Amino acid sequence: MNTQQRSEQYVATTYARFPVTFTHGKGSLLWDDTGKEYIDLGSGIAVNTLGHADEAWAAAIHAQLLQVAHTSNLYYTAPQAELAQTLCTRTGMSRVFFSNSGAEANECMIKTARKRGAGRSTIVTLEGSFHGRTIATLTATGQPAMHGDFAPLPAGFKYAKPNDIADLQAKLDDSCCAVMMELVQGESGVLNLNKDYVQAVAQLCKENNLLLLVDEVQTGNGRCGSLFAWQQFGVSPDIASTAKGLAAGLPLGATMFAASTCNVLGHGSHGSTFGGNPACCAAALHVLNRLDDALLADVQAKGEAIRTALQDHPGVKSISGMGLMLGIETVRPAKDIAADCLAQGVALLTAKDKVRLLPALNIPMQQLQQGIDVLVKFL
Ligand SMILES: *Cc1c(COP(=O)(O)O)cnc(C)c1O
Repeated sequence: MNTQQRSEQYVATTYARFPVTFTHGKGSLLWDDTGKEYIDLGSGIAVNTLGHADEAWAAAIHAQLLQVAHTSNLYYTAPQAELAQTLCTRTGMSRVFFSNSGAEANECMIKTARKRGAGRSTIVTLEGSFHGRTIATLTATGQPAMHGDFAPLPAGFKYAKPNDIADLQAKLDDSCCAVMMELVQGESGVLNLNKDYVQAVAQLCKENNLLLLVDEVQTGNGRCGSLFAWQQFGVSPDIASTAKGLAAGLPLGATMFAASTCNVLGHGSHGSTFGGNPACCAAALHVLNRLDDALLADVQAKGEAIRTALQDHPGVKSISGMGLMLGIETVRPAKDIAADCLAQGVALLTAKDKVRLLPALNIPMQQLQQGIDVLVKFL
């Protein structure tokens, strides 16, 4: 039995996988078990911020593993405290709760909004959003097709149309405690929210004593060309969640609280066994140190370079996204393009009917160009 057969027999059947078994990588290159080389333009769905097998990243984790990898949250550890301080200093947030994934970071955001709502429990999210796979975050996800099999779903969620402030206004009532959204909707096809809309939502929240909850699980950690996307929208969330690229390949979620919400959760309100363990926090600290202004400017420049290379191609209908989170609406079906590119040694993603690019933030320009050249061939 080879790996793919073994996986098909023994791993739960939740994933439709490409027929490729990756064995190792270096930077933005990956190799499969036949020795074939690939350029990685998906980075593990926006996770491998620094590419594969980054030596300084691995060394930071290795050093921490040889000190202490886990202690439980009943004790203090330096990497967790330093990571929380770094996140707060670089965002203006006040406190951080650590977990292991995006869904958990969002669960914490939902629990905090409900507790602070003190009886007001409804959270308005946006149609087409994606917030995770747990029962509450699945319900927050504004895609009814994903809800069907899992009833009964928890009460207390409503959905408004993205980029339509009148629709949001119409959905608000006395039961609402918060509005929750991604600033660029990732999974549902890389849909940008307009800056005017986001600012109007923030204003509406202020006027109605609602919390603004921003899901930066995918858009955060430099992906959109600023440390967090909200920093380019001129708004300040009351709570923001992140995960994916934060530790660049180890599981870590973070829920960041502004001063308005930083003391809502008290002792015993919430917790996690693994969340914020020193090994994952050492990885994230290293990632944040690497995400300096120069790298963030580079993310913007590479995003622009991709747009320039693709925007006038007759096989491209439109390009959406920010920084190195891009969605390309194509004439040919996106799934066919992804399969053709993979066969030619370029691993890229799709989101709904778009080709989706989420390369490592430090992908060398030459490899990016090579990958785009292959994509262009199959447009
Ligand atoms: C991926 C994603 C999640 C879920 O993260 P997991 O780590 O898979 O639980 C939540 N929100 C957004 C915006 C995401 O892109």
